[in-house]
Amino acid sequence: MDLGIAGKTALVCAASKGLGRACAFALAGEGVNLVIVARGAEALEAAAAQIRHATGVNVRAVATDITTAAGRAAALAACPQPDILVNNAGGPPPGDFREWSRDDWLRALDANMLTPIELIKATVDGMIERRFGRIVNITSSAVKAPIDILGLSNGARSGLTGFVAGLARKTVKHNVTINNLLPGPFATDRLRATVEAAANAAGKPFEEVWAARMHANPAGRFGDPEEFGRACAFLCSAHAGYITGQNLLLDGGAYPGAF
Ligand code: NAD
Repeated sequence: MDLGIAGKTALVCAASKGLGRACAFALAGEGVNLVIVARGAEALEAAAAQIRHATGVNVRAVATDITTAAGRAAALAACPQPDILVNNAGGPPPGDFREWSRDDWLRALDANMLTPIELIKATVDGMIERRFGRIVNITSSAVKAPIDILGLSNGARSGLTGFVAGLARKTVKHNVTINNLLPGPFATDRLRATVEAAANAAGKPFEEVWAARMHANPAGRFGDPEEFGRACAFLCSAHAGYITGQNLLLDGGAYPGAF
């Protein structure tokens, strides 16, 4: 299917690795020119070169921390008028809420709630004027099925989800949609680090814990970031203008509810 977005421009945050990189790759595969952002210049430049080589689109790399005001300003200077915005950043650390300080909460809110809101604020009116815009926020399956040790993530991402639910109904008549993609377990560096920590804590080999988690998922496997990227590209497509304010779970069926 031709997604009808060739020649558009996307700003994709946290895109040197994992799910963000997969979203950037899938959009580039549809002919979308990119500005990609991540903190580490080396991995980011490598991702940019791979995407250019594979797809031939223009890719500009901005090495910065998107959760800071300076980082957002740098990203927006490189891409002041994106047609597509993919909001993403690293997730907050796990832990016990009794040990989290106010600063821990503020860091989580900055990364996973306020940064996407600031970027939406900076770009959505231009999208409305141009009568095309697609905003996708990468959140987490923990928004629907909170995980106790991920309280910082549950709280911050739920705040973003509530905000988006209101705004997404105001922009859609201008062909500007805002949706959230909720990953369950995807085979990325982050998941590897989480499983490694769990294996060390349990004194078990990494492979054993990795395989056990994989088989515990109804799909019997982890998600492939490429699948995630393609779902993102569809939500950003010309055909998805009637889908807004949705929270789409990609978790192999792990969430057990009917709705
Ligand atoms: P990853 O560690 O594989 O990749 C993270 C990317 O984000 C890297 O490119 C990194 O450079 C970039 N990044 C992190 N913090 C940044 C910042 N402050 N500014 C700019 N770039 C930054 O992680 P992933 O698995 O792709 O996860 C992406 C998001 O999805 C995270 O918020 C994570 O919590 C969430 N998530 C992932 C899974 C999973 O199974 N992979 C499940 C649920 C939620």
